[in-house]
Amino acid sequence: MRFSPGDLSIELPTLPAGNVDHALVESQQAYMTWSQTSLDQRIDHLRQARHQLESHQEELASGIALEVGKPLTESLAELSAVIAKFELSIQDARSYLTEKTFSDAPHPNRVRHRSRGVAVVIGPFNFPIHLAHGAIVAYLLAGNTVIFKPSPFACNVCQTYGDLMAEVLPEGVFQVVQGGAETGQALVNDPRVRSVCFTGSIASGQAIARACANDITKDVALELGGKNASVVLSDADLDQAAGDIAQAICLTTGQRCNSTSRLIVESSVASELIDRLRVRLQHFVPANPLDPQTTLGPLVSESAKIRYLQAISGSQIDWLTPLGAPEQVQGKRGHYVLPALGTIRPEQISELSLWKDEIFAPVCLVVTASDSEDQPIIDLVNSTAFGLTAGVFTKDLDRFERLSRRFDVGNVYMNLPTTFSPSTLPFGGLKNSGNRHPGGRGFIRFTTDEQVTQIRA
Ligand code: NAD
Repeated sequence: MRFSPGDLSIELPTLPAGNVDHALVESQQAYMTWSQTSLDQRIDHLRQARHQLESHQEELASGIALEVGKPLTESLAELSAVIAKFELSIQDARSYLTEKTFSDAPHPNRVRHRSRGVAVVIGPFNFPIHLAHGAIVAYLLAGNTVIFKPSPFACNVCQTYGDLMAEVLPEGVFQVVQGGAETGQALVNDPRVRSVCFTGSIASGQAIARACANDITKDVALELGGKNASVVLSDADLDQAAGDIAQAICLTTGQRCNSTSRLIVESSVASELIDRLRVRLQHFVPANPLDPQTTLGPLVSESAKIRYLQAISGSQIDWLTPLGAPEQVQGKRGHYVLPALGTIRPEQISELSLWKDEIFAPVCLVVTASDSEDQPIIDLVNSTAFGLTAGVFTKDLDRFERLSRRFDVGNVYMNLPTTFSPSTLPFGGLKNSGNRHPGGRGFIRFTTDEQVTQIRA
């Protein structure tokens, strides 16, 4: 049985695992015709899909809020990003899929793009539609057919999304297959699948990479977790830094791959920054995710709440904010938690798993660094296996450039929260945070193979 994370008295329908073989047969069949359509024809279809989703934005956003507990304002923002993704991807497809020629080659030539076949997109719960949708649209524009396996935590809203899309696309071109890890494995293991785009945790990403490892012809794009650090230098606008950092800790209740979970502050401003941050965190109060005023929804599940409770039980940490999981919020039982901010000493980081492991909850550890020394800051930022995002709050552009070039992350920010990832830019991680940057702009590059033609007349 499943319940709404913001109100455990509301039971949610579960959906049975789908038939993988049937979906693959349909997908392969549909590919024969879809791959032969022109880009303009495929764009027409996808624009119809955009209209479909546009007229159901509110229903889909409420579905996300109810099913995964993401506050309604954030869920509506997710839907806006989903809608915007169509035209951004069309622009990318028009420029990338155009044939190119090389004038310095011996014969007239062209480089054209061949679609790969059946693609599988496996999505996480936290952006249940948007993150999968970017890959889905890119694959479809390039002439592939797609099977989407959503997170079981968002199965109903993703089914609605899938039904709306499928209604205006030719039969079999886009399908949703429900299920958990086993269904995901059955899909990625199947030799009929030519490309996989996965967004989720490192453990699941590794299992997928292993499943695909024996087939060198299968493409695998992975968008995984993060343990993102913000750095506050002594010249920073502390009020702005505190506001942005509080937001990056609490958005989606800390369940974003790019949430801030580590904070490195130069010692001369540490106590002032922490005071301001504690005040800002008080604005994030657990409340019903379906209420448009809510800033902090519940965590997605009981096990996520248990992970949070274990994280804050660590005795080596000096906690600076009220902690815990309120039994009831506005008279409802749910997986609600309070944002947690704690300080540690630099010598503790090597032994503290909370400094290194993704908790996926609003929990942030602060460590102080000596003023004006670059190397300790760089070492602290790079001291985890993740490499997704990192930010620096400062007025010194030169120092930002010097530091950020040596951060082993895919995205760096000056005076912005680590959660700031507009769809108009590429996005993705280094190290164990992933490969091929499927999360942002330009994923179209990984949806085709190049074919080079040379003609001797
Ligand atoms: P998860 O790994 O538990 O599940 C993600 C999806 O993978 C689900 O659909 C799940 O059913 C499926 N799955 C799980 N095990 C599988 C397996 N062995 N084979 C095939 N499929 C499998 O992740 P989650 O809890 O839904 O999402 C949270 C994680 O996603 C966090 O680690 C977060 O950082 C990451 N994430 C990363 C990004 C990014 O852009 N880098 C964005 C969002 C989320």
